[in-house]
Formats: sequence, structure tokens, C-alpha cells
Amino acid sequence: MFSYRHAFHAGNHADVLKHTVLIATLQHLLQKDAALTVLDTHAGAGLYRLDGDYASTSAESADGILRLVPPAAPAALAPALQDYVDMVRAFNQGEATRVYPGSPFIAQRLLRAQDRLKLFELHPTDARALAGNVAQLDAGRQVAVLAQDGFEGARQFLPPPSRRALVLCDPSYEIKSDYARVQDMLQDALKRFATGVYAVWYPIIPRPEAHELPRRLKTLAQKAGKSWLHATLTVKSGKTAPAGTAPGRRPGLPASGMFLINPPFTLDAALRAALPQMAELLAQDRHAAWTLEGGAP
Ligand code: SAM
Repeated sequence: MFSYRHAFHAGNHADVLKHTVLIATLQHLLQKDAALTVLDTHAGAGLYRLDGDYASTSAESADGILRLVPPAAPAALAPALQDYVDMVRAFNQGEATRVYPGSPFIAQRLLRAQDRLKLFELHPTDARALAGNVAQLDAGRQVAVLAQDGFEGARQFLPPPSRRALVLCDPSYEIKSDYARVQDMLQDALKRFATGVYAVWYPIIPRPEAHELPRRLKTLAQKAGKSWLHATLTVKSGKTAPAGTAPGRRPGLPASGMFLINPPFTLDAALRAALPQMAELLAQDRHAAWTLEGGAP
């Protein structure tokens, strides 16, 4: 059984990057009236308390979303980052930011009556929590929670009836094979549905598979004749914690990336404005940085 629980990490710098990209992508896709299907292959529990037991164990949100909202809120944010902050704030009443929406709740809030959201979550506890949280929405047939393997499960919905879909693939990469499974899923998905929008999150950690994944996805996109966009956000050095670091202060994730195939054409400009601010506001040391690279078919 997996030990990864997203509640430990909710609202951290990786979520800031991932959810800013998710919102900007969805906003663009939802400009057309035709129905959109969103497949979230690794959905998590959907909603998290930032003041709960899980989140406070590592308090990763303190160096993520909590640097962007009141009372820390910087004066002017780039539009994509502001939209992300507004989204998180919409789940909170009053001054404090105590609730953090995961990708399922972010997507659901943006979708319209004609759109569909399929949420895959394999961990039984998180799948139960997700189903309970989704039930509160009273969203009827719009949202389906599937306690299944998301890599396999997403395939059955491609192509969707309306032939418009966003697939968010956000594994925990606890198992080394997740890296290869992401690649396999995308390869197969592009064969089934070449015009889908695919967004993959991955951690930038000292492990060969993590460095190879974006290279492999780029090759995949290029061979398929598809456009792609690759954004990374680094908040600190990836070197292990110096000797003398207090026990319990685990080094934590230094950086992560989002790789998109068939990204909205507006996303490059939106991220080019937001990423420098993310790197500046979420920096944990002088190694904070960002990159953005893309390619046309
Ligand atoms: N996408 C969520 C968000 O942005 O709020 C966070 C997801 S978290 C990074 C990854 C989740 O995938 C975990 O809740 C884990 O239990 C689940 N998981 C792991 N392997 C899975 C699989 N093969 N299929 C579906 N879910 C899986």
C-alpha cells in the first residue's frame, strides 16, 4: 500500500506551479461552448485543511500558498498567479487561508453544466475522502470518482464524446515505475486522441528517471508532431541538507515541473509573466529559479 498522502504537501510550491497551470489551461479551454471532459488520473482527497494534523506535520504550505495570500500577500501578482490565489481564497471564509482545494475541486469549480470530470484515486482512504467531499458538491453526473488505477482508467474515456479533453496526470512517483507509466499512458493516449490536452506534473529530484521524463515527453510530442510546453520551478538547492540540520527538518522537494502536450497557445505568455514571480516569492535560498521552454509541431 502506498504511504504517500497529498495532505502532507497540500499548498506547497509544487501545488502552486501545478494548480496555476491547471487554472490557466482550463480557463482557456472553457472559452469554447463545446463540452470538455477533464480526466484527473491521480486525484488525491480533493480538499485539505492547512491547519489539520497532516498539513502541520510538515507545514509545506507555509512556503507555498501561504506566502501568496493575506497577510503575506504581495501587492501585484501576474494574472495567472492572481487567478490561482483567488481560486484558493474562494474556498475560505474570512482572513485566514485554512482550506486548500486540490485539483478535483479546482477543476469542478471552473467547469460548466455540460462538462464532465472523472477522478481516479487508488488509495482507499483518499478515495473515500474524495468521494465524501465530492458528495457535498451535489454535482450529480458531472463528477465521477473512480477508485481505480488512473493510468489504466483514463484510457477508457479517450476520446471523449465531445472530442475535447484535458488529462491531468499527477502521480506521487513513489514507485519508480510511475515515470515509465506516465510515458506509456501518454503514448497510448495520443494514439487514441491526438488532439487532447495533456498536463503532467513531475518532481525534479536526484534520480535519473526524473530527469529523463521531460526529455522523453519532448521526444514523444515531437515524434507525434504536437506542440509542447515545459515549465519548471526551483525554490532551493537540490543538495541534501547540511550537517547539523535539526532532526525532523527533512530537506523537502527542491523543484518540480509541468510538461504539457497540445498546451493552449495562451499558456506560454501567462507563465512567462507568472513564473519569475513564483520563483521570487517562493524562494527558499539563492538557487530559486524558473524555466519555460516550448516547441511547435
Ligand atoms: N492531483 C492532486 C492535486 O493536485 O490535488 C494530488 C494528487 S497526489 C500528488 C497523487 C495521488 O495519486 C495520491 O493521492 C495517491 O494515493 C494516488 N495514486 C497513486 N498511484 C495511483 C494510481 N496508479 N492511480 C490512481 N491514483 C494513484
